[in-house]
This record gives sequence, structure tokens and C-alpha cells, in this order.
Amino acid sequence: MADKRDYYEILGVPSSASAEEIKRAYRRLARKHHPDVNQTDKEAEEKFKAINEAYEVLSDSRKRDLYDRFGHSGPNGGGYGGYTDFGGFGDIFDMFFGGGPRQATRERPAAERGNDLRYDLELTLDEAAAGVTRNIRLTRFETCGVCSGVGAAPGTRAETCPTCHGTGRVRQQQQTFLGVQIRVSTCPRCRGAGQVITNPCQECGGHGRVRCTSEREVNIPAGVDDGTRIRVPGEGDAGIRGGSPGDLYILVHLKPHEIFTRRGNDIWCEIPVTFAQAALGATIKVRTLMDEEYLHIAEGTQNDEVYTLRGKGMPDPRGRSQGDLNVIIKVQTPSRLTEEQKNLLRQFAELRGENLEVQAEKGFFERVKDAFGGR
Ligand SMILES: [Zn+2]
Ligand SMILES: [Zn+2]
Repeated sequence: MADKRDYYEILGVPSSASAEEIKRAYRRLARKHHPDVNQTDKEAEEKFKAINEAYEVLSDSRKRDLYDRFGHSGPNGGGYGGYTDFGGFGDIFDMFFGGGPRQATRERPAAERGNDLRYDLELTLDEAAAGVTRNIRLTRFETCGVCSGVGAAPGTRAETCPTCHGTGRVRQQQQTFLGVQIRVSTCPRCRGAGQVITNPCQECGGHGRVRCTSEREVNIPAGVDDGTRIRVPGEGDAGIRGGSPGDLYILVHLKPHEIFTRRGNDIWCEIPVTFAQAALGATIKVRTLMDEEYLHIAEGTQNDEVYTLRGKGMPDPRGRSQGDLNVIIKVQTPSRLTEEQKNLLRQFAELRGENLEVQAEKGFFERVKDAFGGR
């Protein structure tokens, strides 16, 4: 025990190393000295055990603390227990390589998930406000109906690949100046599938999927906006070798509306009113997204004044509060007047003391001041 190497030294880190530094050093060394990589090297196996022993102690803050104070023998001279008993490298291999060959021999070759698909759907604002059900045409890979996705002709079966024995991977030994190295790569014969098809299905050519165009009904919830993405699970391309299908994403595009503009869940529009309506006040009919509303505008309403109809905007697709409809009042100056109308307007101006002939400069600025609060 006394001549054992220092754990920090084994991992090549200073005694002040952080947990992250220790982990990184361990991973680097374990990968380098892993017995799977250095199969014929007896020394590598010893090194690998030492590295694991050091890491087991230094990665545990309690054990590390004791080690710092008492060294290899531990507080009671009995070591730290457990860490020397290191058997089976399989788990470590999986941790680094995401499932090594040891695992693959027992498992079915990996199924592949189908691709996600995108469908661009154009809607009017009214459709978006109400929500719609649409039939859309999709061209996608579907599971072959003849071979049920297996890829083998009816009455025949896919056979285990003789090159990789069904693992989908092959190991290659290479002699390098560091010794024999083992490389694991995808089987070139079955391309990782683990199976070969000698009698391919006529329908799909052995791929297990066929390209089809079909119609599907999709429900678009009320309130979607330009750029909203709706996920329809499982409606993408079919998977390969029993893999799950991809998803379908419907991307919403809103056509511009002739009178409404959308900002978030609020809707804006402009409504023309006559000079008399604006001056005297009036009740006007306003088109909303769903139907019509009566809006009362007050006496003396100015051009560009905004009236808000609460809750008459877009619904929220997540079910939150409804947006508003904002009506911008546009006062129309009367034009193409008859002589009688002109005379009435002249009388009107006279009654208000307005001079129609010459607009005095000072008077003009005074009126502007009045309009901004009379300062
Ligand atoms: Zn088929
Ligand atoms: Zn193979």
C-alpha cells in the first residue's frame, strides 16, 4: 500500500483540481487506456484499473476529503472499500461511445425515426380568427403495405447479415506504432441494419417505405398568427425498420386583409366618418372579425382618434384573453358641394367668427396652441 502512486498523480491533475477537471482528466485517460482499444497490452489494463481506482475516490467529495487527510490507507487503515473491486468494462465503454459493440451484439439494430415534414398553409385573417379544418395534400414516405415495412418479398424474410452477424458494426484490427488498435465502424454490407434482404419486396424495392401522396384533414385552432408552427405528431415520414414516424409541422402564413391589420392579438382598422358625424357625434356600424358592431362616436371627435372595442380582436390560441379591435376615426372633409351647401358652410363659419378670406399668421399659431392644450 505504501508504494502506491498518488491518485492525483495518476490522473495528472493538481491536488487543487476541481471536480470538473478531475472528470475531464479521467475521461481522457480512460479512453486512452481502455482495454478494448489496447487489447493485447497487459500494462494498459493495469493502468486502466489504477485510473478507475483514483477516479472513484477523487470524484466523491467525501472520499476525496478523507484521502487528502489520511492518504491511501484511509482513516482506519482499511482503505476506502469497493473501488479496487472493479469488474467489467462494458459500462464504461457505453458511457463513452454511446453503446459499444458489446451492447450491440445483444440488441436489435437501431431503428430509424422518419423525417419531420413541413407544410406551408395560407389562411385569411377571418379563417385564423375562427379556426379551420382543412384538407391538405401530403407527399411523404409511408410504411409499405405489401411487406409491412420489413422490405422482404412476401413469404421471405430478412436474414441476419453474415458480415456483422446482426450487430450492424464491424471491428477492424490495425497494427500501429502504438500497438494493435481496434476500430469499430458501420458494417459496409448491411449499412448498420444488421440484416440483409435477398428477395426484396417488389413494391418498395426492399426499403420498407413507399412515397405516397394523400389527403389529410388538419385542424387549425382559432387565433393562429403569421409564422405560427403547428405540430401534428406522427404525421411525418414513416420510420425505417420499425422506427417511429416523424412529425408534421404546419407553418401558417396569413394573407393581408383588406381592412384589418393585426398586431399581436389586437386588430386595427380605419373607419371614415363625415365631418357632421365627427362634429355632432353619431352611431356608426363597424365590421368586426366575426360580424358587425355599433360604435358610438362622441361629439367633437377628431381625425385619428382611436376607439377600442374590447375583446373584439383575435382569440388567443393558448386560450388566454381575447385581443381588442381598435378603430381609427378618419374624418372626411366634405367635397363637391352644391351652392346651397357652400352657403350654409359660409354661414357656419361666420357664426364661429372664422375669417375665410385671410388667415392671419398670429391667429394660426394661436389655434395650434389651443389644439395642444392652450398654453
Ligand atoms: Zn415493401
Ligand atoms: Zn452487416
